[in-house]
Amino acid sequence: MLLKKDCEIETFGDLLNWFPFRYVDRTRFYAINEVSEDLPLVQIIGRLENIKMQGSGKGKERLTAILRDKTGTIELVWFQGIKFVQDKIRPGIDVIVFGKPTQFNNSINMAHPEVEVYSAEKAARAPRLQPVYNSSEAMKRAWLDSKGQSQIIQQLLQRIGNQIEETLPEYLIKQHHLISLKQAYQFIHQPNNAEELKAAETRLKFEELFFLQLRLIRQNRINKQLLKGFPFEIIGDIFNNFYHNHLPFQLTGAQKRVLKEIRVDVAKPIQMNRLVQGDVGSGKTIVAFMSMLMAIDNGFQACLMAPTEILAQQHFSGLSELAEKIGVKIRLLTGSTKKKDRTILHQELESGELHIVVGTHALLEDKVLFKNLGFVVIDEQHRFGVAQRARLWAKNTLPPHVLIMTATPIPRTLAMTLYGDLDISIIDELPPGRKSIVTKHQFDKDRPAVLNFIKEQINLGRQIYVVYPLIEESEQLDYKNLMDGYNHLQDWFPSPQYQLSIVHGRLKSADKEFEMQRFIKKQTQIMVATTVIEVGVNVPNASVMIIESAERFGLSQLHQLRGRVGRGADQSYCLLMSGFKLSTEAKIRLETMVRTNDGFEIAEVDLELRGPGDLQGTQQSGDLDLNIADISKDNQLLVYCRQLAQSLLDKDPDLLLEENQKLNMQLRVLEKRKMDWGRIS
Ligand code: ADP
Ligand code: MG
Repeated sequence: MLLKKDCEIETFGDLLNWFPFRYVDRTRFYAINEVSEDLPLVQIIGRLENIKMQGSGKGKERLTAILRDKTGTIELVWFQGIKFVQDKIRPGIDVIVFGKPTQFNNSINMAHPEVEVYSAEKAARAPRLQPVYNSSEAMKRAWLDSKGQSQIIQQLLQRIGNQIEETLPEYLIKQHHLISLKQAYQFIHQPNNAEELKAAETRLKFEELFFLQLRLIRQNRINKQLLKGFPFEIIGDIFNNFYHNHLPFQLTGAQKRVLKEIRVDVAKPIQMNRLVQGDVGSGKTIVAFMSMLMAIDNGFQACLMAPTEILAQQHFSGLSELAEKIGVKIRLLTGSTKKKDRTILHQELESGELHIVVGTHALLEDKVLFKNLGFVVIDEQHRFGVAQRARLWAKNTLPPHVLIMTATPIPRTLAMTLYGDLDISIIDELPPGRKSIVTKHQFDKDRPAVLNFIKEQINLGRQIYVVYPLIEESEQLDYKNLMDGYNHLQDWFPSPQYQLSIVHGRLKSADKEFEMQRFIKKQTQIMVATTVIEVGVNVPNASVMIIESAERFGLSQLHQLRGRVGRGADQSYCLLMSGFKLSTEAKIRLETMVRTNDGFEIAEVDLELRGPGDLQGTQQSGDLDLNIADISKDNQLLVYCRQLAQSLLDKDPDLLLEENQKLNMQLRVLEKRKMDWGRIS
């Protein structure tokens, strides 16, 4: 069936939940001299004249007609379905025409308008908002255009509208001034006016967000009862020794607060699942390390898993220095760990001699067994799926506590909705003395100045990144731009005085690694790359990030890229290169980058611009299949619904009260649907 294939509509219920994506105002008629290209769809009353076929040859014919009223004329034109239209229209009859005006050769015309024969009755019919549904080309050919869909849905509402059952208890409907569900479905598909539409939207959004929160909060509470974990009863000598004698700096207030949150969690006999969000450079690693010490003091082992070998390596060398001072034994395990070292590592892990292991996916292998794994840190969480996380749990009799660190900030409201199963900590403070990165937007015409700036910085001993966009759809062209840019830079920065590295996805990973290492070892001064360098690598001496065609990057990507610099003591710079012609959104993105270094502020803007579905790291989340509510726009309602769900569950945790029976039932329906859905996908 066409509907099913083209828009995944399967049941009556789905059809009713197939909401119009916008509405056309058919509450008034326009005079022809009022009509301009700027108007959306408009309706006009007029008389037809001068109907004729023009052009010749297959596919080139068109039917045209002139529509006249007292104020002027416009041309109507059809390229398709000509026969059908010809049968309906005659010169001299009065009609109601409905369509989108466009400017063509200094006059206004309207392609493929709807035409109805005029009658006083029709002109006087109740003014209304006409729903517009999405429809594919295939659907349109089969007459299932927006109007066809509207008719089907109207018929369905007439037939089964009375059977739509209320999902909210009477007291909630009253308290929150909502309309009934039945009414809401009527109004969303055929509102008579703006007030009805608003009431319907409010009710349906409330429905969606409230039940989502009810489900997530309830699940979270149930998990906490079910997921038994190891309680870390003491703060012991190792932690205290490190804290008092070896901490290389004072912790920031935010770091202390998050450590306390973790401490409270791990002291309970319940598995912790906590997400730590903090901008690049906010100091998540030390928090993770000190949490691991809590585990070790209680006789447990800990591991830290990173998404790439380079990152694992970097974590290992950083943590080794700290661990050494307090007699904590730590090792590295990655894909390229030698067999001999692996054997030793396996033994030490199983005997309990080894306290901490840092590594990549290699840690997940079944061969890797622990004597007593109690704490797991996962860096850059969006690279690891939930299933992979679960494999770590199997490594002890009870699941270890899990701390996930991410530098991709997600606005709190979104995080609340996305990670129902995680508690969230935020490090929203940078260590003192950090120089903030100076960001500038530069145009292609500024290129000579930019090249001179690069030269100056290199002469000061700094290193430079130059990043090019690479997007699948335009891959060929993008590679060409990358190579052109590289060649151009080589002309400006000739060897042997200057050395350039280049890294992109078409290189073998050994070659990539080789080039990265040359840059890390300061053998090259400029790194030309695609976004492969986005995550991780820490080269403190690199202090300039130049992003080419910056308008083509998303905000969170720009922010991640900028985070590659500003890691050392020197003043760092980020230059965003673009042409003059920019879309409004691109302008907002670049302005936002120039204005702020705050990842959370950037994430909020990103959410507003793109909507939550596209935010980095959220794509895999099945929880966010919202139909009508929009997390970026319905923020307040979301928070409201969350609080309501919370207080309701505080009072009636299992929804057993008589007054909440409707909620209980609806929740079961939703949970069942989600399970079915999970099985399919
Ligand atoms: P990220 O959150 O990006 O993982 P890191 O943990 O790598 O950040 O920390 C970035 C740098 O800041 C490291 O060199 C670290 O030693 C340093 N650092 C972390 N916390 C503090 C602090 N409270 N005071 C001073 N420097 C700190
Ligand atoms: Mg980090």
